[in-house]
Amino acid sequence: MSTFEDLNLNTPLYNALDDLGFKTPTPIQADAFNVVASGKDMVGIAQTGTGKTFAYMLPILKNLKFSTQENPRVLVLVPTRELVVQVVEEIEKLSKYINNRVLGVYGGTNINTQKQAIANGVDILVATPGRLYDLALTRVLQLKSIQKLVIDEVDVMLDLGFRHQLINIFDILPEKRQNIMFSATMTQDVDVLINDFFKSPERVSIALSGTPLENITQQRYNIPNFHTKVNLLTYLLSDSETYNKVLIFVAYKKMADRLFDNLDIHFKEELCVIHSNKTQNYRLRSIEQFRNGENRILIATDVMARGLDIDNVSHVINFDTPDYPENYMHRIGRTGRAERKGESFVFSTEVEEDAIKNIESLMKMTIPLIEIPDSVEISTELIEEERPQIKERNNPVKQKDEDAPGPAFHEKSEKNSKENLGGSYKFKIAAKYKKPKTRGDKNYNKRNKKK
Ligand code: AMP
Repeated sequence: MSTFEDLNLNTPLYNALDDLGFKTPTPIQADAFNVVASGKDMVGIAQTGTGKTFAYMLPILKNLKFSTQENPRVLVLVPTRELVVQVVEEIEKLSKYINNRVLGVYGGTNINTQKQAIANGVDILVATPGRLYDLALTRVLQLKSIQKLVIDEVDVMLDLGFRHQLINIFDILPEKRQNIMFSATMTQDVDVLINDFFKSPERVSIALSGTPLENITQQRYNIPNFHTKVNLLTYLLSDSETYNKVLIFVAYKKMADRLFDNLDIHFKEELCVIHSNKTQNYRLRSIEQFRNGENRILIATDVMARGLDIDNVSHVINFDTPDYPENYMHRIGRTGRAERKGESFVFSTEVEEDAIKNIESLMKMTIPLIEIPDSVEISTELIEEERPQIKERNNPVKQKDEDAPGPAFHEKSEKNSKENLGGSYKFKIAAKYKKPKTRGDKNYNKRNKKK
């Protein structure tokens, strides 16, 4: 096991760590330190609670020279304002004996106060993407000195639809910079972003144990299609005594909604769903209802289920087979907690066989395959994604991908959403209030001609 001494920090950092009572680096801190310190791009796969904030801040603070220049040199982007506050607090704790300036900015609060704070000079800026971009556009915030960009919780950020805003921000940052990203789950969106914008980043992930918890019984069904999966699920869930707290995982939002609609017919009062297109209130309510037993069944996407802390889950059902084996481990780890017994099923189709193989090789075990009960109807009906794709040639209208993250825009305020009526608006008002005709208005008679 490595120690903080192995990381060759400096006295101010050692003193701060002493004050915090931290004795040894966490695994992600030990593994990420040299990569971050080397200046290479990095992608860290780590969940909240693993000490990831210090994993990037320790090497950054060790190498950040004292400066009196006003423009920030380190930019940390996080998806929510709560996280801005939390990350700023962590950095401040670690900077207790260092003379640096840390500032957090986020939307929903007065931008002028933040402009003022920026004008006073900042070394490390922690921000949500929308507010950061707004501030950069005002030119009060200059990003030309940014040397290190950290994007924390990339998976959540992309799931919330921040992709376009991130790209806009990349555009105004200096090209020569170090990119450091952290994500709790690997998703296709994260992969695409990495490939599009980063220079062969080094991957650092805390060795996820491939050993499943012993108290989880895993089984697998081989199922031809979506509708048969729904039939099997309906069959299983109708035994409410056995399946008393069931967490169902799907990979993306559209599938979560589609599954919800199909199950809603049978389990209306017992069913809830969470994904990032649902409002935060809706999500919190759903989670609470599932936690307290009001709802027996919860459908969730990987990203949204990450922060769930729910005990006594009787069954985890993988409605699809995760592409990334780590996600499977995270999913099934939701049951069989606190020494209780848990059960998990994975539904796989023929095209998902490869994913199953990857999961099995990570776990170094085979998931026992069981037969679909005779009473479950095998459907031949296919959903859109399952039908063979016939590509149209040269159709200029692109097919809409409903799961593609949309632009993160805000509702216009009432004042700004008024239609611009141009000049005629003046005349309408004049007619309404019978204002005297203006001198020199040649068209007055034309407009007011009796019909
Ligand atoms: P994070 O994953 O960054 O949200 O950190 C989770 C918690 O672990 C925070 O409260 C940190 O202050 C704490 N922490 C970070 N590094 C260490 C460490 N080396 N030893 C003990 N606790 C730590």
